[in-house]
Amino acid sequence: MPHSRFKLPYIPPLPTTMVSRPFGLNDEGKPINQSRGAVFQGALVYVREFVKERLEKELPSELSLEEKNQRVTAAQAEAFQEIITRLNSAIPDPNYHITPEYILNEGNGYSREFSTFFFETCRLVCGDDDFHFNKGRLNEINAIQYMTRPFPLSYVYKIFPRFVAKYTNLDIETIETTSNSAVLRMRPDSHLMNIPPEIHIHSILATCNGFQGFLIYLPKFHSGIQPAIINERKCRLHGDEYCEWEFIWENPRPKIGTTVWGGVALSLALAVYTLLRMPAWEWIAWFAFIPALYSWFTYQIKLGDFERDRQHRILAEQSEKSEHQYDELLASNSNLQISNVTLQQKISQLTALYEIGLAVSSVLDLDELLEKSLQAVIKHLNFDRAMIMLVDEKQQVLKDGHIIGGSPELMETVKNLSIPLERKDSILTQSIHSHEPVQVNSIDEVKDEAQRNSLIQFGIKGYVSVPLIAQGKAIGVLLADNSQTNRPIPQDSVNSLVIAGSQIASAVDSARLYQTLEQRVTERTHEAEEARAVAENASKAKSAFLANMSHELRTPLNAIIGFTRIVRRKAEGVLPEKQTENLDKVLASSEHLLGLINTVLDIAKIEAGRMDVARVNFDINALAEQCIAIASPLLKSGIKLKKESDNEISMVYSDIEKIKQILLNLLSNAAKFTHEGSIVLSIRRPEGNNLSISIADSGIGISKEALGRIFEEFQQADSSTTREYGGTGLGLAISRNLARLLGGDLTAVSEVGKGSTFTLTIPNMSPN
Ligand code: ADP
Repeated sequence: MPHSRFKLPYIPPLPTTMVSRPFGLNDEGKPINQSRGAVFQGALVYVREFVKERLEKELPSELSLEEKNQRVTAAQAEAFQEIITRLNSAIPDPNYHITPEYILNEGNGYSREFSTFFFETCRLVCGDDDFHFNKGRLNEINAIQYMTRPFPLSYVYKIFPRFVAKYTNLDIETIETTSNSAVLRMRPDSHLMNIPPEIHIHSILATCNGFQGFLIYLPKFHSGIQPAIINERKCRLHGDEYCEWEFIWENPRPKIGTTVWGGVALSLALAVYTLLRMPAWEWIAWFAFIPALYSWFTYQIKLGDFERDRQHRILAEQSEKSEHQYDELLASNSNLQISNVTLQQKISQLTALYEIGLAVSSVLDLDELLEKSLQAVIKHLNFDRAMIMLVDEKQQVLKDGHIIGGSPELMETVKNLSIPLERKDSILTQSIHSHEPVQVNSIDEVKDEAQRNSLIQFGIKGYVSVPLIAQGKAIGVLLADNSQTNRPIPQDSVNSLVIAGSQIASAVDSARLYQTLEQRVTERTHEAEEARAVAENASKAKSAFLANMSHELRTPLNAIIGFTRIVRRKAEGVLPEKQTENLDKVLASSEHLLGLINTVLDIAKIEAGRMDVARVNFDINALAEQCIAIASPLLKSGIKLKKESDNEISMVYSDIEKIKQILLNLLSNAAKFTHEGSIVLSIRRPEGNNLSISIADSGIGISKEALGRIFEEFQQADSSTTREYGGTGLGLAISRNLARLLGGDLTAVSEVGKGSTFTLTIPNMSPN
């Protein structure tokens, strides 16, 4: 069983000076003799020993023994001198200063104040906090050893207080003993009467711990057995009325010893007597064995007692251990219960908050969001009523009031409520200004008259209000109360309300953002619709303009062409040949202009989406042949125009007129720009159901840079083209537009000086 002692409390430093005289005569002329010099010696021995032990640990091991001993002796002397110096510095009158020799005189008498200073100084100088207790084992008082040896140890503990009383006048008593334990109680107050209050704690410490230390060694001094174990039950240093200690020791196992051997010897003597047939030997023979038996039985009884004590103690220890364990078990069990309950509460709070989070995060409509939030607060956080008001930044008021748990009239009132933010006296603006929750448990806590009135108006007896803070800004307030059931508001609910408040705040923030976004989207959609209508009108105007223009341009042009033809026919043989040639030029130019106008009109129509597509099933090979036939007259002499085709391709479902227009454009370009070699028209199905018709020539080719723009309107490879070859730069533009209108495309690859390949791809729209 281990020692159990209280932890030392904080011990303040000693006062700088002593109040009374340390020794000599007191004011009344009587000798000062409250403490004997003899009791100091044990303390000094311990200081020496402690200094030695400490130094031996600290000194480098390579030092010689002699060197070590020298250093130890020097340190011990230094410590002793330090004690003397400190004591003297606390004695105001130099006449009473002490010397080492003086203090070592066991016959001196001192004041109790001095002895308290002495012991405490020893403790401080040697640096062992448990000095008073530890020095106990050195208090070997021979007198006690010799005087008490004949008595059992428990009896020594019993009479110990009488010795103490004799020497120290201390109130100490033994309140119970068993064969292996004793409980002693000490009241240090009688010692405290004669010393200043500032050193009471030092005196109690020295007396209490000093006695404890000495008493645990009593079994060792008395019968040379292991020191006792101490249980410190009470202590004046810890505020108890007295100090109480229990000492438990283990009695030595009884030895056969002199009693048994004495009995045996006596029996042997009697046996010899009988054998020698001494007088009355017959009678003696009867009793010869009795002394041996008696002493043996006495020994056995002692042994039995010892064993019984031992068993008893083991049992007591076991039971104490079990009780301790049981207590610990009970304590941990109840702790577990408490944590369990706390955990349950936390779980239900978390569930509540989770559900609130879920409720508010799934709603984007602000009114619905506020309703759901308040319902969740009431349901999960167990409030009677809950109310939210939002900040209107522009008007600087709190409005949009929503309340759940109140009467319809109250709901109406709250809905129409508008509280200027600058009002400091409102229960609703309070937490908005402070950014902190406000809890009021009773209307009596409210001093402000206006606030009291609004509490009475809403029938609120106590409430919690929490600011709704989103992105660092208070955007509203959440107020909850239990005024209908009059239940108090627990702290947990306040904490949960704060968390719920922050969730609601961010949900409100998102909902508002969503509302703003939605509004913006509606505005933008409206704007886009308006723009589209304007564009459509413009497009209609453009189409109308184009239609009108084509009519206005083509009508006079057709008239010019028609009349020129008539004049040309009638002029044959009438006008000089030169004039008829001029008329031919007018005709050619007019027809060219008409072609141009028609092309521009076509492009405009395609861009405006007004060019119709008329799809029919036709034979692509036949169309290709037809185009080749039309283009052939354009070929420069010596140029061959061939057709290549995959055999299986024949019928195509598309707009035959548009494909013809494209092919003729491409063929006429190829014929125009090819001066030697050949032109090949090939019809293939490169992938899927697409059809590709490419026209490859071995003409002048197109530069990379020009290839990028020849499909744009009025664009030619370079300016010299117009000079050399004529043309308008519209053919490829309209061809690509037409190809795309049919769902296909027109692309080109080319190399200057080697030739070009234009490829038309069109999707085949029908299964044929
Ligand atoms: P145009 O032939 O009336 O000038 P196009 O749109 O048909 O207009 O052609 C644009 C330009 O593309 C031509 O001016 C010419 O520079 C170039 N081009 C078209 N086809 C060929 C070709 N087969 N070989 C070389 N250049 C070509």
